[in-house]
Amino acid sequence: MHIQFLGASQEVTGSKYLIRGKVEGNEYCFLIDYGMFQGGHEAHDKNLIDLPIDVEELDFVVLTHAHIDHSGLLPRLCAQGFKGPIYCTPATAALLKIMLLDSAHLQEADFKRAQRKQLQGRWKGELPTPLYSTMDAIDCLEQLKRIPYRHRFSPKKGITIEFRDAGHILGAAITLMEIERGELGVHRTVFSGDLGMFERPLMNNPELIEKADALIIESTYGDRLHRSMSDTENEMVEVITHTLRHSGNVIIPAFAVGRTQEIIFLLIDLIRQKRLPHLSIWVDSPMASSVSKLTEDHLSLLDQEAQSIYQWYQSNPNRLELRFVTEVEESKALNQIKGGAIVISASGMCEAGRIVHHLKWNLPHRNNAIIITGFQAQGTLGRRLVDQAKSVHLFGKEIPVKASIHTIGGLSAHADQAALLRWLKGFKQAPAHTFITHGEIKAANLFKEAMQKQLMWDHVHIPTLNSTYPLWP
Ligand SMILES: [Zn+2]
Repeated sequence: MHIQFLGASQEVTGSKYLIRGKVEGNEYCFLIDYGMFQGGHEAHDKNLIDLPIDVEELDFVVLTHAHIDHSGLLPRLCAQGFKGPIYCTPATAALLKIMLLDSAHLQEADFKRAQRKQLQGRWKGELPTPLYSTMDAIDCLEQLKRIPYRHRFSPKKGITIEFRDAGHILGAAITLMEIERGELGVHRTVFSGDLGMFERPLMNNPELIEKADALIIESTYGDRLHRSMSDTENEMVEVITHTLRHSGNVIIPAFAVGRTQEIIFLLIDLIRQKRLPHLSIWVDSPMASSVSKLTEDHLSLLDQEAQSIYQWYQSNPNRLELRFVTEVEESKALNQIKGGAIVISASGMCEAGRIVHHLKWNLPHRNNAIIITGFQAQGTLGRRLVDQAKSVHLFGKEIPVKASIHTIGGLSAHADQAALLRWLKGFKQAPAHTFITHGEIKAANLFKEAMQKQLMWDHVHIPTLNSTYPLWP
């Protein structure tokens, strides 16, 4: 059996691994993840590259979680003729219904906007052709096969797969893959998928795995440490208390999946601990609202702490006002609130969506505060705010930045270096081969160094794009 790294190789997006070879005399070929490349100029071109095999040859796909950089090209694969099963956890399937449709919708909207501009002579070059349509995304959902955590299944004779909780986002899974090798016994490959932090709000700790012959591990933050949770809580309390005392609004840009729910639970917990007073919280993003509802439906997947926070909220509904805004009119009405509101809205990097309107209204007033809780990429509006821009250009106007801007670290869906090493220490023995993926080269290199120094692991590889390795000699 061979593994080919078709993405997330020395970069953080485009996760997809192709596995091919003979199992007990039968020729098999399957994928772990089929994610989209995101960000940068080359992403669109890279997303257009087809598999190095005929799509019809593909037996099945295993999906670790719903994030678009792991799942985003599945509708394209299905539209190209893949008719087989896509295995994932039930919560991942529920999230995909929201996320793949949103992805298709965004691509179609981008295309229509560019087409309009072209008609007006304001578009140069090629139009951004969507990678797939909304219909393709809907069709692809039909191929999902829901498998709960810790439930072993066999997609093909001689191959057994099992999902374990990765503690990253709802439904995210570590994937254990066992292949029969006759007299040589069973070979086990472990795919970490994306791993979460230990002891953070909402999600469980990533489950420790004791044995792997080959390991594929992510390294997004393999080179750094996150802020502690207590620092994060203290900063949150300080900014909100100060802003409310001065009758300002608090605006929090947040990714709709994961981060928004994390912030809601954190705020409820701080009220429960009496560290924050009664709050009026508006969650203004249709997608964040659907994902929050879905999170409520999957409460049993959250950690004990999150479940007790939720129960407290159910029995103390008067201690806060939590509203999910879906209608545009209601969203606009929020702009009239002069003070005392906490608004959580998407997109997380302030590039599009309703958050831009909230910023337009709230940035010019010095009593307001903007809390940035996530990574802000180069060139985004969020990054300009973090970099202390004096004014920003929004809707054709120059908007002065008078509100205070606070960057609060510590909330991350990805394990930092210490957490990755802690997870690796769960293995009783070093795998024969370890492959570091899903991290920029600097992060991957420093993580490899830490693994060699602290765990004495060798045979650690950082695969390049499209490289192929045997799973066993
Ligand atoms: Zn992820």
